[in-house]
Amino acid sequence: KERAGNQYQMYSNDIESDSLEKIKLENDLFKALKHGNEFVLHYQPKVDMRTGNVIGMESLIRWEHPIYGLLPPKTFIPLAEETGIIAALGEWVIRESCRQMKEWYDEGMTNFVISANLSPQQLNQKNLVSTVAEILEETEVPPALLELELTENLIIHNTERTLSTIHELKQLGINISIDDFGTGYSSLGYLKDFPVDTLKIDKSFIDDITTNSSNAAITDTIITLAKSLQLDVIAEGVETQEQAHHLSEKGCHLIQGFYFSPPIEASEFKKQVSTIQTK
Ligand code: C2E
Ligand code: CA
Ligand code: CA
Ligand code: CA
Repeated sequence: KERAGNQYQMYSNDIESDSLEKIKLENDLFKALKHGNEFVLHYQPKVDMRTGNVIGMESLIRWEHPIYGLLPPKTFIPLAEETGIIAALGEWVIRESCRQMKEWYDEGMTNFVISANLSPQQLNQKNLVSTVAEILEETEVPPALLELELTENLIIHNTERTLSTIHELKQLGINISIDDFGTGYSSLGYLKDFPVDTLKIDKSFIDDITTNSSNAAITDTIITLAKSLQLDVIAEGVETQEQAHHLSEKGCHLIQGFYFSPPIEASEFKKQVSTIQTK
């Protein structure tokens, strides 16, 4: 009985354990990108607890595989990174995020910031900044409404080059968020050099925030740090009302997680926005 609901998980496991499948998947990945249409973005709302308003959404990629069905990013993003396909795939993600954003914008949803995940390798692409600039121009999305989420590890391990690229991205007028914040095992010194706007507290701290005093303390510290550096702070993976209220009381009012909504299709997103606001 578990199977029906668990197919998504089953396919992922199969793929990870079977190298023949992996080669085939790699082949499929090339094709899927070349012919387009097999990738889709789902959108997860970000909510401001103070107002109950949706303030933005994160775009999260899925692959509508003709045989395996809807595949989660962990089954193909690592492969896309290994094979270099991520450059083109990542560009598609930014372009599609902006295209969708512009559509919503024209429908009157003008107060949202859309966030796209950036793979470490994309940051090393020579043409990243000009590509982002082009996409913004082409889609006519106001740069201030685009955010790129970079993982903390990426920033730490790439300092010089990364720093100048991020400065150039910032000069386009877009926002930079540090994803999975707190998991990077690093000194926090880099924060003063990087022109970032937001810290996103990793889900691993949020999971047991109401029962684990260490994780509660780390979260508190991140919130305080963000405040003193005048950065926004958001928590990811918030699943319960207790977690959401705990965070909001500690001064982290921006919440993303299943508590409000899982990532959903674009058409669902528009409907959900109004119901979330009354939660
Ligand atoms: P992430 O950026 O940390 O994204 C958050 C992940 O947590 C998403 O998984 C989301 O569906 C899931 N999530 C959100 N709220 C909750 C919650 O309350 N509970 C639980 N259990 N999970 C929650 P998803 O969509 O499977 O994405 C996984 C990772 O794949 C992302 O982690 C990101 O690193 C990567 N990814 C997704 N889309 C893209 C993309 O377009 N480009 C790149 N380079 N990476 C992507
Ligand atoms: Ca993210
Ligand atoms: Ca994250
Ligand atoms: Ca995470």
